[in-house]
Amino acid sequence: MVKKICVVGAGSSGLAAIKCCLEEDLEPTCFERYHDIGGLWRYKEDPEEGRASIYKSVIINTSKEMMCFSDYPIPDDFPNYMHNSKIMDYFRMYAKNFNLLKYIRFKTTVCSIKKRPDFAISGQWEIVTECDGKQDMGIYDGVLLCSGHHTFPNLPLESFPGIEKFKGQYFHSREYKYPHSFQDKRIIVIGIGNSGGDLAVELSTVAQQVYLSTRRGAWVINRVHDEGYPLDVVLLSRFKNVIKEFMTTDMLNCWVEKRLNARFNHENFGLKPKHRILSQHPTINDDLPNRIISGKVIMKTNVKGFTETDAIFEDGTIEKNIDVVFFATGYSFSFPFFEDSVLNAENNKIPLYKFVFPPHLEKTTVACIGLIQPLGAIMPVSELQCRWAVRVFKGLAKLPSQEDMLADVACKKKEMECRYVTSPRHTIQVDYLDYMDELASQFGVKPNLLHFLFTDPILAWEMFFGPCTPYQYRLMGSNKWSGARKAILTQQERIIKPTKSRVLVDDDMKKHHSVIPFPLKLLAVFALLAAVYFICL
Ligand code: FAD
Ligand code: NAP
Repeated sequence: MVKKICVVGAGSSGLAAIKCCLEEDLEPTCFERYHDIGGLWRYKEDPEEGRASIYKSVIINTSKEMMCFSDYPIPDDFPNYMHNSKIMDYFRMYAKNFNLLKYIRFKTTVCSIKKRPDFAISGQWEIVTECDGKQDMGIYDGVLLCSGHHTFPNLPLESFPGIEKFKGQYFHSREYKYPHSFQDKRIIVIGIGNSGGDLAVELSTVAQQVYLSTRRGAWVINRVHDEGYPLDVVLLSRFKNVIKEFMTTDMLNCWVEKRLNARFNHENFGLKPKHRILSQHPTINDDLPNRIISGKVIMKTNVKGFTETDAIFEDGTIEKNIDVVFFATGYSFSFPFFEDSVLNAENNKIPLYKFVFPPHLEKTTVACIGLIQPLGAIMPVSELQCRWAVRVFKGLAKLPSQEDMLADVACKKKEMECRYVTSPRHTIQVDYLDYMDELASQFGVKPNLLHFLFTDPILAWEMFFGPCTPYQYRLMGSNKWSGARKAILTQQERIIKPTKSRVLVDDDMKKHHSVIPFPLKLLAVFALLAAVYFICL
């Protein structure tokens, strides 16, 4: 019988993993190589080996209602987009509330995970850990791998001839902490992912000049969306997903690009890529256009090479006397403690069934958690993956045949390759809502909207038109949460509360400010009723 589960890492995925094991009466032991929880979100002045590293100012770009765990809403007075210190406050509250800390062995590194000789029958793993220089070996029935995928920097120096002669300093974005020491410097930031955008903006507040170099360009999206609502709150609703179904990819691309260009013309701002908006992981940055229009950030093409002091760009321009180069060129992931035959990621490609299970094992007793890049928050995705994984470990949810799993892996790979521009940063992409529903369907916790339409129309309304918050996956099925309904019906208030700090006297706090216009809602209700009518016919 499956009982003892090893959880590797006590970041947000690891915390959710411990909680999900406890819900299913399993015995988790979580190993965390450092002394504290939080993983990537625990800020430290110096980057630590084997753990992701963030800069002091990092503010998350997924909002609180969309990033919380499904049975533990973030307090209403917390901001929608939280600073990393606030995120840590939330994780600490979560760990305390569910009493998770006692299952974590801090300062203990997982050194190796190997199949036991009788693995084909037992599905068990031999796990060697190290604490204070002493090694220990334990046997576990299952492994939830929560070690993160933003730890190992991708530093493609070979693509930048002359960098070895360059007399200035160069760093990976992982090493950046704060701007003070870059006062009056001439800086190049390479890469226009979210790290590149954030670094360019922040450095430009003190530097003499920042150049932001990109080989491809990017569409830049605002965190603060319509009526000041968080971007993900507006975009990630079931209603919007239905609308999407009626549009071709081209229509959708045109519509979004038109809106983005209406804010500032991407071509005139040197940002316009050749690819369409949906073909790249989004760069979210409210400040970048401001820094470009004020000349503090100057957009450049890719760097062709470096001399001792200068950077030569692919368009033939040269920027002289460069002091510092930041490579915001992303990350690669690997699992050095696993045998290659179990998990082998090459060029950030890893064949996993629904991004969770290696499909070729005799027994499915290992799951990769959080090894995805959703268009939305990772935390609730990791949590749902854990809920599914523990059900699979216990035999309460079945996986298809190896052949079917491999076919699904191949299909997903092909879809991703068709949609996204080829880049190692686009190998684990998922759409938040579709993927959450897909996971939830594997073990019966996908909410049945029609059921709620007839039994609880007020709830159904908010589930359909409101943001698809993680609480929706606690309404039915295993380990449902009695507070889920209330959490959904009060989510709009929690979104508004932290910004509405100056309340007008005659204002009604409880009034819902809907993101979707009323006529559209009415139309959707008719469409829904018509669909129900035809289904019932
Ligand atoms: P991590 O937080 O990386 O935690 C992994 C833990 O495992 C660490 O504590 C590490 O010490 C431990 N560990 C690793 N190997 C071992 C071992 N061998 N033995 C023992 N312990 C081990 N995601 C979002 O959803 N929204 C965002 O806005 C967002 N912003 C981001 C900003 C930046 C700058 C970066 C780099 C990433 C961002 N992400 C964001 C993605 C981020 O990875 C997730 O938010 C989240 O931190 C993933 O949690 P995790 O627990 O899976 O991994
Ligand atoms: P990333 O998303 O992988 O972006 C890497 C960038 O570097 C891309 O523009 C990529 O270009 C470029 N690049 C890679 N190799 C290159 C090369 N050889 N030459 C030129 N350019 C190259 O990495 P990231 O920005 O560090 O982001 C990592 C994760 O953290 C993402 O999930 C991101 O959303 C998250 N993040 C979030 C925040 C936030 O919440 N505030 C902040 C930072 C990061 P191509 O597209 O052409 O490959």
